[in-house]
Amino acid sequence: MKINQENKFKPQVIKWNKKWAKNLNCCNMDGQATGGVLTINLNALRYNYKILSIAAAPAMTAAVVKADAYGLGVAYAAPALYEEGCRIFFVAQLNEALQLKLYLPDRAKIAVLNDIHPGMEATTADAGLIPVLNSLASVKAWASFCRKKKKKLPLMLQLDSGMARLGLDAGESAKLAENPEIFEYANVCYILSHLACSDEYNNDMNSIQLSSLKKKLKALPTVPVSLSNSGGINLGADYKFNLVRPGIALYGIAPKGKLSSQLHPVVKLEARVIQTRQVPAGLKIGYGGTYLTTRPTHIATVAVGYADGWIRSLSNCGAAYFSGKRLPIIGEISMDSMMLDVTALGKFFPCRGDFVELIGPSQQLEDVARDAGTIPYEILTALGHRYDRHYIQS
Ligand SMILES: *Cc1c(COP(=O)(O)O)cnc(C)c1O
Repeated sequence: MKINQENKFKPQVIKWNKKWAKNLNCCNMDGQATGGVLTINLNALRYNYKILSIAAAPAMTAAVVKADAYGLGVAYAAPALYEEGCRIFFVAQLNEALQLKLYLPDRAKIAVLNDIHPGMEATTADAGLIPVLNSLASVKAWASFCRKKKKKLPLMLQLDSGMARLGLDAGESAKLAENPEIFEYANVCYILSHLACSDEYNNDMNSIQLSSLKKKLKALPTVPVSLSNSGGINLGADYKFNLVRPGIALYGIAPKGKLSSQLHPVVKLEARVIQTRQVPAGLKIGYGGTYLTTRPTHIATVAVGYADGWIRSLSNCGAAYFSGKRLPIIGEISMDSMMLDVTALGKFFPCRGDFVELIGPSQQLEDVARDAGTIPYEILTALGHRYDRHYIQS
């Protein structure tokens, strides 16, 4: 095959088109060519945005769509959320923001959580992005860029209220309060902070961070404020301020508390059976022989492995489901496949070509994350691009 060198690295320019949000079903041979089918319900995503907006009101609700909308496909998720009324989108990196611009109308505001890397001021400004500035050094750089351009460019300013990850620390906040020239030379549209333990309703850390933030705000010029991620929305009116920033709750994982029964699941994952076999008792199964059969066992091998985000820590402890019955994963998970014990199904076992459920009504994302010893965020963002993806939107 001849590769056209000239076109090889040209970025593809995709113009946002209202039709995208209407008819997004991408069906490549109905999963016939892939080991699994990942179904992403954009109706549920939109519904969750609506529920969160109602819970957060009168604060506005942004959407966090970093890491390809938590692995679910920002090209589909962002236009759907825009149609539902979302106007502020958060990503982590500049490249994610530049990509996201292609999928959203110009009216949408895109904020970049991970600051501006030194020297990227012009790229950020030219693209009309809103940087989230996390240190005095980047505040100074942005202020001098604005002065040079004679433009009050937008930014968000993050204060560290106790998580010690990103944002101005106490000393830097105090310095900024002494010399708040950034508020003069640029347009500080929001002051941000982020909660470390918001998924734990009763954790003291929440109120400690809240009062730390309030104290810092008192010393600075008054601008709108944003504190809460998904968990924070649950913590009560004090935590709402002017803008909330849910991510995981949009994708169907509710923080414990009031919201948990209201959100709809967004993701369904099915894996295809590619072989079944009967084996005797006393046989070692899979790489390293980490599973020993204790009785005659009926095994189904399915075509999803750790390269599909079905992480190896689910080996010998996770499960799939068929007809509502639990089918334990036996042996180590391979890169492209894994084995299930289907003995319990008797003669109603899945055959070559059938699908078993990995995420769905029988086994939720939270269950998978618990079995894997991780959090739903990590399972979602690991899912990868080998599945046949179906996007549902009516
Ligand atoms: C990722 C992130 C969010 C979203 O958090 P969820 O727990 O997914 O709701 C909000 N704010 C910041 C700063 C983040 O990094």
